Amino acid sequence: MPVTTPAAPEAVSSPDTAMPQDFGALLRQDPEIAGVLLAEAGRQANTLQLIAAENFTSPAVLAALGSPLANKYAEGYPGARHHGGCEQADEAERIAVRRAMALFGAEHANVQPHSGSSAVLAAYAALLRPGDTVLAMGLPYGGHLTHGAPGNFSGRWFEFVGYGVDPDSGLIDYAQVRALARARRPKAIVCGSISYPRHPDYERFRDIADEVGAYLIADAAHPMGLIAGGAAPSPVPYADVVCATTHKVLRGPRGGMILCGVELAERIDRAVFPFTQGGAQMHTVAAKAVAFGEAETPAFALYAHQVVAHARVLAAGLEAEGFDITTDGTDTHIVVADPGPLGVDGRTARERLVAAGMVLDTCALPYGDARGIRLGTAAVTTQGMDEADMARIAVLFGAAVRDDDPERLRTEVRELAERNPPYPG
Ligand SMILES: *Cc1c(COP(=O)(O)O)cnc(C)c1O
Repeated sequence: MPVTTPAAPEAVSSPDTAMPQDFGALLRQDPEIAGVLLAEAGRQANTLQLIAAENFTSPAVLAALGSPLANKYAEGYPGARHHGGCEQADEAERIAVRRAMALFGAEHANVQPHSGSSAVLAAYAALLRPGDTVLAMGLPYGGHLTHGAPGNFSGRWFEFVGYGVDPDSGLIDYAQVRALARARRPKAIVCGSISYPRHPDYERFRDIADEVGAYLIADAAHPMGLIAGGAAPSPVPYADVVCATTHKVLRGPRGGMILCGVELAERIDRAVFPFTQGGAQMHTVAAKAVAFGEAETPAFALYAHQVVAHARVLAAGLEAEGFDITTDGTDTHIVVADPGPLGVDGRTARERLVAAGMVLDTCALPYGDARGIRLGTAAVTTQGMDEADMARIAVLFGAAVRDDDPERLRTEVRELAERNPPYPG
């Protein structure tokens, strides 16, 4: 890791400043909630986490999250806080920002958004006014809640127009994106999705945005970790603003981030604080810094490429089991499968898979009303599974969805999970 943290020496050596977190103490003080946490750790270790948005963050990230920086108020930005005593908070945020900029080649980074949705809210706040038109992937095709859902601020405050995908190929229909942009003259175009298994063509989105004078916002919440590891193209050279989460493939703490060029830096910063948030969660900011440090390593680049290779093996295996795979495969960690040919829809499939210990989501399919299933390989890859394990998981999927002997499947899934503990030792 090229960045070293200048720790205050007395803080490291003094026994008075030993880290106070102690799970044993929690267990004694509050067995009720400690029991919940232990049971959740057990659930994560005994079942397969195939929710595309989930991952196992490292013990180092968890240590930063459980640190006393959680106690610190730090409204504002490093060197310009509304509170005293922010020296270490400033240092943590400066390190996080510096690492994010280096990792993604961005001119500016804001690491304060509490979540991916807060990052998107701030991006809209920086660039748009209520009532403006925004062109984004329609929700039935994989747009996120923040891309115009009626129950979300985005749908309430902006005029969203949705683009779709070609019903046969499942791929973004760029001719339609362009036609809608020319007809509706949006103030911003959003690219990014919760279930699109291919890379958006950022250059093409940039051209369309330029043609109609729109901002281009890339909501890269899902692929940000692949981008960090060089396993997916980066939107940074093309988009005016890139929003992301830090907890998906990127494997950091739950949270959001925003990247942009220098010319929008001040507007983005003011849109995060004070417009959409108060004090940043500095323990999370420190944990983001730890995750960015991890993501700079060759081991993480290898991980990101493995995640994609694993998704491809899983997609091919599911196809052999009879599932229809949208876009006929994947370039990312995401696989979207239609279990229709096996005689069930996504909801029944998910129920059976979860009963067998394979935890995942349903999602919209690019055609018709039936739901499919969406899975991701970020977590199983973090826990050290390999391509043979992915092929085995595909077979277990087929058996579970066909409702073969759930008890036997549950046992096999558990053995597979236990061979690859997320937190060994
Ligand atoms: C996950 C995601 C978000 C929101 O992240 P939260 O942290 O859950 O608020 C926003 N946009 C896209 C495309 C996502 O995949």
